[in-house]
Amino acid sequence: MHYPDTQLMIAGQWLDAADGRTLPVFNPATGKEIGRVAQAGTADLDRALAAAQAGFERWRDLPALERAKIMRRAAALMRERADDIAALLTQEQGKPLAEARMEMRAAPDTIDWFAEEGLRVYGRVVPARNLAVRQLVLKDPVGPVAAFTPWNFPVNQVVRKVAAALATGCSILVKAAEETPASPAALIRAFVDAGVPAGVVGLVYGDPAEISSYLIPHPVIRKITFTGSTEVGKQLAALAGRHMKRVTMELGGHAPVIVAEDADIELAVKAAGAAKFRNAGQVCIAPTRFLVHESVHAEFAAALAAHAQGLKVGDGLAEGTQMGPLANPRRVAAMAGFMDDAVRRGASVLAGGDRVGSEGNFFAPTVLADVPLEARVFNDEPFGPVAAIRSVRSLDEAITEANRLAYGLAGYAFTRSLKNAHLLTQRVEVGMLWINQPAAPWPEMPFGGIKDSGYGSEGGPEALEAYLNTRSVYVMNV
Ligand code: NAD
Repeated sequence: MHYPDTQLMIAGQWLDAADGRTLPVFNPATGKEIGRVAQAGTADLDRALAAAQAGFERWRDLPALERAKIMRRAAALMRERADDIAALLTQEQGKPLAEARMEMRAAPDTIDWFAEEGLRVYGRVVPARNLAVRQLVLKDPVGPVAAFTPWNFPVNQVVRKVAAALATGCSILVKAAEETPASPAALIRAFVDAGVPAGVVGLVYGDPAEISSYLIPHPVIRKITFTGSTEVGKQLAALAGRHMKRVTMELGGHAPVIVAEDADIELAVKAAGAAKFRNAGQVCIAPTRFLVHESVHAEFAAALAAHAQGLKVGDGLAEGTQMGPLANPRRVAAMAGFMDDAVRRGASVLAGGDRVGSEGNFFAPTVLADVPLEARVFNDEPFGPVAAIRSVRSLDEAITEANRLAYGLAGYAFTRSLKNAHLLTQRVEVGMLWINQPAAPWPEMPFGGIKDSGYGSEGGPEALEAYLNTRSVYVMNV
């Protein structure tokens, strides 16, 4: 199947790196190299930065309505090209084609939502203490943005940032993940083809630390947005802080799934099971710590194990595949480490537990029960297809455990009681809580974490606020 080499997007042109350097791209289902991606050096970054500044000065001066029209054209192009881009995404990232297509359906919807919301960036007129004065609150784009995105949702991690930046009149320079370069390049291409002026969107790849340490302090860049691990996020936020740059950080999570004694178990297994193994668990909001009331623990654990065993694991391009490989060999090694540790500490393996085959990065959908709190899988973000279950004696115990870690991204709960739901709503320390349903991160709702899972939001009106300066202007009638 066709897989293109990926170039850099600088000042409206697709280019190789100035010094011709490239990095390999591998198919995680086979381990084989399928293409190359251009590796930007400082000369490329300097050109991209100059283009981002020039692009910003043009884009911010276009009426919001014109910007929205171009964005909607990009959304339409994404819809036309969805199947082709989904095939690229599966080849470079591994997820089943059906999931890649879902990601491709979400991307244009996100662009359209932000295009609309960009029309509603309102200021205010505040009644003044002196009637000769008009007091205005203005909202202006913050300026050129540097965005860093990971490999787990190569398109959707980029689209939330690009759509919000463009809707508010900012330009944006994206460093997408080197492991999955072609599908985000196709997204950027849709914006370029839709008529976004040169420099408004840029795309580079290369050495992540080298690029972030060059772009974040650079005077052209006025805002940083990063999605990835908490560890890297803290480094980048610290660097941004030293240079007084605005920051949005969408970081790791360790989502509790609280199953109360009055839960609909069938619903809980269906909803949490699907969410757990989607994208082989490499999802920041994936359910990870299952806290199940002792009265329903055995029933829930057996049903989740049966769900895991029933999943068809294979190449994402193959018909009927329900779970693909992990995105890179690092994740397979990480899963093996979590397993060894948990089993050594007394956890029982109800499903999976091992690699699958010798080619590609396959790891079986895994369910662990009786997992001790000290097990690494209950403390570090697993980011893979491992469900760790513990039985709890009460809702209070579950809430205490849910809040024990520094993470605070997503949480799930299943209960039929309004009283329980109310308590969970008040007490579980997460940025996003889904009760009696799977995750539904629609663009109109805030998306982001609290505590060590980061700050800022990538959905709802709050997502636009992150790209806006607020200024006060007082005009005296003389
Ligand atoms: P990692 O922390 O090395 O990298 C995560 C992402 O950050 C990658 O895309 C990488 O290119 C980028 N990155 C790393 N160092 C960087 C730097 N100095 N400057 C800019 N970008 C940098 O880990 P990994 O092995 O690729 O992924 C494993 C971990 O990453 C997971 O355990 C998970 O916590 C996290 N992760 C989170 C998300 C998310 O959606 N929040 C997505 C992917 C990975």
